[in-house]
Amino acid sequence: MTLPVESRDFDPHTYRPDFPILSKLIHGDIPLAYLDNAASTQRPRRVIQAMVEAYEEHYANVHRGIHMLAEESTALFELAREKVRALINAPTVEQVIFTQGATAAINLVARSWGDAHVREGDEILVTEMEHHANLVPWHQLADRTGATIRFIPLTDDGLLRLETLATLLSQRTRLVAVTAISNVLGTVNPLEEIISLAHAAGAVVLVDGAQSVPHQPTDVAALDADFLVFSGHKMMGPSGVGVLYGKQDLLESMPPFLGGGSMIRRVWIDSFTPANLPYKFEAGTPPIVPAIGLGAAIDYLNEVGFESIHRHERRLTERAHAKLEAIDGVRILGPRPDQKAGIISFSMKRIHAHDVAQRLDRLGIAVRPGHHCAMPLHKRFDLAATARASFYFYNTLDEVDRLGDAVAECKQFFAGRRRTRAEQAPSAESVKSESAS
Ligand code: PMP
Repeated sequence: MTLPVESRDFDPHTYRPDFPILSKLIHGDIPLAYLDNAASTQRPRRVIQAMVEAYEEHYANVHRGIHMLAEESTALFELAREKVRALINAPTVEQVIFTQGATAAINLVARSWGDAHVREGDEILVTEMEHHANLVPWHQLADRTGATIRFIPLTDDGLLRLETLATLLSQRTRLVAVTAISNVLGTVNPLEEIISLAHAAGAVVLVDGAQSVPHQPTDVAALDADFLVFSGHKMMGPSGVGVLYGKQDLLESMPPFLGGGSMIRRVWIDSFTPANLPYKFEAGTPPIVPAIGLGAAIDYLNEVGFESIHRHERRLTERAHAKLEAIDGVRILGPRPDQKAGIISFSMKRIHAHDVAQRLDRLGIAVRPGHHCAMPLHKRFDLAATARASFYFYNTLDEVDRLGDAVAECKQFFAGRRRTRAEQAPSAESVKSESAS
């Protein structure tokens, strides 16, 4: 049997056998089309195996023992740190801090850097498309300090209104917190421009790379980002591990956030001195095996190649746009495919996003309904919820075609019904999944 070739240079079928879950049949005999990758990706056997092997052969706590397993475990954990460093082209491994995820990394910066540097009257600049993880910690910082949150608004196409940046930035701006790629619109933001304008105004920039690092090459040195955060589970690693990258001088100047074991140099009964980077910010037992799993995921991604991943996802996105735009009553949020990543959020006239997602699930297609942890963004577009399809390199053009057919079927399915959830008060069920991102 010859498999369909997706493109001359990239065929996802080469990789799909590595992901047992992708060949699952759901609701009896329907092949799963997993299009919920912006929430979390699936992982290949090799990543799962790396973690099994770590537990079965090498596991002990890190940095604390001199017995053989402690040394093996430490070596594997630190090797994972080096893999992350190389992935994002950070100058040193000391600048790679393992956290619990992107959310934890942003909170670390808000607490440690924020409390030390932000004062009443200062301003924190965000964008209208931020995930709550890159909003709420800044609200909390503003509440603690008396600082003000300002935001870069969006165009109707879901692009940043960059012309406002020059007027929003001032000597009061301490920090610009911006996502590299919107988890709802797919918009790819012009980070270089934002960072250079912010730096000219004397502001520090935190880049939320949760949706970009898994999908495209990242170079923090070239980008000149002050902080970058991302999560392992969105790039085939396990949940429970994420990364904070920071510029050395900033990290050095920041006080530790969490206190406890590992983050100290010396402790007396009434005081302590902190450890060097990166341990200063890694209190307690770190996510040892999750980090090793993330390292294995990075190896796998490097073999697939980020340029290929990016090109293939663009192809999927173009096809999905064409399919969905052909269906009357479907509204796609965000820009054209050439300005976005593989994330398509859409609404359907008179059909609630939860009904869309539920119907699509019956047809084997996993998409996510809700506000995707971006309520201000949905308010901007006057919507309570959207359905979101999001791709990874293992998705196929065939799956995208199935998505298009299923959305068309969904329209027919609900056409005959008198009242859908869109016309009713939100039910408990429709609110249920809105906390997931
Ligand atoms: N930022 C963005 C853009 C995201 O999409 C997400 C996850 N949906 C996060 C931050 C938070 O990531 P995590 O839940 O892994 O901490």
